[in-house]
Amino acid sequence: MTLRGFKSFASSTTLRLEPGITCVVGPNGSGKSNVVDALAWVMGEQGAKSLRGGKMEDVIFAGTAGRPALGRAEVVLTIDNTDGALPIEYSEVTISRTMFRNGGSEYAINGQGCRLLDVQELLSDSGIGREMHVIVGQGQLDAVLSATPEDRRGFIEEAAGVLKHRKRKEKALRKLEAMQANLTRVQDLTAELR
Ligand code: ATP
Repeated sequence: MTLRGFKSFASSTTLRLEPGITCVVGPNGSGKSNVVDALAWVMGEQGAKSLRGGKMEDVIFAGTAGRPALGRAEVVLTIDNTDGALPIEYSEVTISRTMFRNGGSEYAINGQGCRLLDVQELLSDSGIGREMHVIVGQGQLDAVLSATPEDRRGFIEEAAGVLKHRKRKEKALRKLEAMQANLTRVQDLTAELR
């Protein structure tokens, strides 16, 4: 993953994430969480809050005492796809996201400009992307450990994608109820007309 002008990473910085466990160590405020934010951002994260900022432009290097602010942020993520986890016929897939201070934003897959939707679709079947269950932020672990059994069940259902279906079921039941009321009304009317 290469970061350029992303949060505290003004200079081009490349991190190699090998299979297994990678630890990022450093003093408080040195940019460890910014690395995780970059990963979420390049995979299409849309919430400024999830990226620990107020607005989306907050991801662009804002300058320090010795270095002026930059006009754009870029993160490039190259994924080894030799196992074919991503549904694309390339053994290496590069996803990039660029944001300009004047508001423009660009995505690309293997150097070809694309839409956010294309990035989301590419990642969605692999279990990464959109819902971002793969990224557990600071404090979230505490929240899971201290959650009530009901809340914990909620987390699991959300991760398993059950919540979406539960919401759909509730909606369908509401429609069914409304339909039943209409049916009763029609039956009343036909009885009156007889
Ligand atoms: P901790 O150990 O306290 O959690 P950390 O190593 O995870 O810290 P981060 O939260 O990743 O640190 O980084 C915070 C730093 O990033 C702060 O110094 C902040 O000023 C800097 N930073 C965040 N956004 C920007 C930006 N847009 N431009 C410049 N610097 C930024």
